[in-house]
Parts: sequence; C-alpha cells; structure tokens
Amino acid sequence: MATSTYHLSCDCGDVKIIARGEPEVSLYCHCGSCRALYGTVMLAATVWSDDKVELPGSDRVIDYKMSDRDMRRFVCKNCGVTVYGRHSPGMPVIPHSMFRKANGGELPAELAPTMHLFYRDRVLDVADDLPRSEGGELIGM
Ligand SMILES: [Zn+2]
Ligand SMILES: [Zn+2]
Repeated sequence: MATSTYHLSCDCGDVKIIARGEPEVSLYCHCGSCRALYGTVMLAATVWSDDKVELPGSDRVIDYKMSDRDMRRFVCKNCGVTVYGRHSPGMPVIPHSMFRKANGGELPAELAPTMHLFYRDRVLDVADDLPRSEGGELIGM
C-alpha cells in the first residue's frame, strides 16, 4: 500500500507540519467545544497519532487553551492560521483546511471524512449519507 506524505503549511510558510500515512479518522465534529475552539459551525478535521506527524516547535506557534477545559489549538505567530489542535482524546487534530491548502483547494480523496461526531449537538444540518454518531462514539475505528 502506498504511503502518503503530506507537507502542510500555514499561509506565510513559517509553520510546517508533515503528516505520514493515514489518519486515525477523518470526520466532522459538531460538538460545542470544537465549535467554540475553532469559531465555526462544525469542525472538519483529521485526527492523527503522534508518531505520524512532525509538529512545529513552540517558538513558532501561539498555544491557545480554552479557559474551561483542556482543549487547545495552535496558531502561527506570524499569519494567524490555525495549524492544528489537541483535544480529546489527546491526539493531534489537523483541520481539512490545511490539506486543502496544500492540494490546490481540494481535500485529498483518501482523507474524505467518514462520519459525523456529536451530531445531536449540531447547529447546522448536513445532507449527506455519512454515518452519524449522536454522541462521541467513533464509528469504524
Ligand atoms: Zn504563518
Ligand atoms: Zn468536537
């Protein structure tokens, strides 16, 4: 099986991330925490195990932590792009937007999301055929 290597970057190029192989899961998360942390109606992201990603040093990013829970996202100090997050279950979470940026605007086909997480908490209905986890249960992992 071919192994993919993704070279990701913020807009200004100061922050680089390398991801190798396959993520643990690619999904949409509708939970209130992700919506608050990322400032969006849902999070579209991939979740990786630490041994598959090379993350930027702490000198390159602002480490933003939510005041009331241990959920963080890391932002390029120079251009402000959110490059990844770290929250439950503790693994690096890389938004689809980072992969789109590196791939001419398209999400690489093999990273297509496979489920909706916390669908009961949604603020926006989504019309697709993906499995829905009403709570935090991961489907197919
Ligand atoms: Zn930047
Ligand atoms: Zn979430």
